[in-house]
Amino acid sequence: NKRVILKDYVSGFPKESDMTIVDSTITLQLPEGSDNVVLVKNLYLSCDPYMRTLMSNPQGSINPRAYTPQSPIAGYGVSKVLESGHKDYKEGDLVWGITNWEEYSLIPAAQIHFKIVNKDVPLSYYTGILGMPGMTAYAGFFEVGSPKKGENVFVSAASGAVGQLVGQFAKLHGCYVVGSAGTKEKVDLLKNKFGYDEAINYKEEQDLNAVLKRHFPEGIDIYFENVGGKTLDAVLLNMRLNGRIPVCGMISQYNLTEHEGVTNLAHIIYKRILLKGFIVVDFYHLYPKFLEFVLPHIREGKVVYVEDIAEGLEKGPEALVGIFKGRNVGKQVLVVARE
Ligand code: NDP
Repeated sequence: NKRVILKDYVSGFPKESDMTIVDSTITLQLPEGSDNVVLVKNLYLSCDPYMRTLMSNPQGSINPRAYTPQSPIAGYGVSKVLESGHKDYKEGDLVWGITNWEEYSLIPAAQIHFKIVNKDVPLSYYTGILGMPGMTAYAGFFEVGSPKKGENVFVSAASGAVGQLVGQFAKLHGCYVVGSAGTKEKVDLLKNKFGYDEAINYKEEQDLNAVLKRHFPEGIDIYFENVGGKTLDAVLLNMRLNGRIPVCGMISQYNLTEHEGVTNLAHIIYKRILLKGFIVVDFYHLYPKFLEFVLPHIREGKVVYVEDIAEGLEKGPEALVGIFKGRNVGKQVLVVARE
């Protein structure tokens, strides 16, 4: 049973060498008395930015999901049930939820979020558009952002797992949408694949404030915040009266030992901005409604999804570390096995 082990707590930017692959034997059978435990074969694993926060030394703070050095890391994944000690699951079921980064796992049934019913779409989609990032884009944009037709929307990390969907949902809703990303290839995707009206390569812009003023002469109604730092600071200067900022993430800050100051916070007052953080797990009750909304759009080709596929558990550390360097183009997926 190959596994990806965290060697020790991480500080600063994570490196491939912070993790290692080990191999151990496993009996592919539920141990006696394994009530509410499920034996699964892991198929697709999701590389997500929040995993970095679980690599830090929790230093006494309570985070039940923080990783333990010398143990496998864990995250969202699509798995196949081999044997079940829980009445809701049976052999052969496909599920998505939290699993370990290894070939086979014994997981508490409570870690399974949903059974996969719709199988006419790529299974890997349940790590992305039909999984946690998809729900994040949906809940963050519609529930937290309260968009209205015709509003001006700006999205950062706009070509990623979450961002590419926020842009497409905003276009479907009749909004004007601009996205920012870190390479020319991603900027092309924003405009030519995801339908953004305009796209910015933030790494090439000296004056983000001026660029935003050009793209949003009347100001921004909704800023879907994925990165924080300098981008947030420039956006605050360009928000419109009564604008909303769903705060999804701040990836530019996760690996810094000293966080960047945001200097324009007073604009929250002048512009009566609603700045609201959210965590996707609070919205999982909307998952059936979300599937009803998004599945027809996928089947009709009205919403597309770009994935960046890494093959084999050995590629896990490289793929995970890559998202903090912007190496991923679209949703970073790690394939352990294809059923
Ligand atoms: P992505 O697929 O977008 O991958 C991360 C991307 O972030 C990189 O490809 C890179 O793109 C960009 N990035 C990395 N470092 C920086 C930096 N220093 N400054 C600006 N951009 C950077 O990830 P996700 O779509 O999965 O996640 C997007 C955000 O949403 C993250 O902040 C994440 O933590 C958050 N999130 C929050 C959830 C919640 O419940 N609140 C749930 C899921 C995600 P580029 O080349 O464009 O720089």
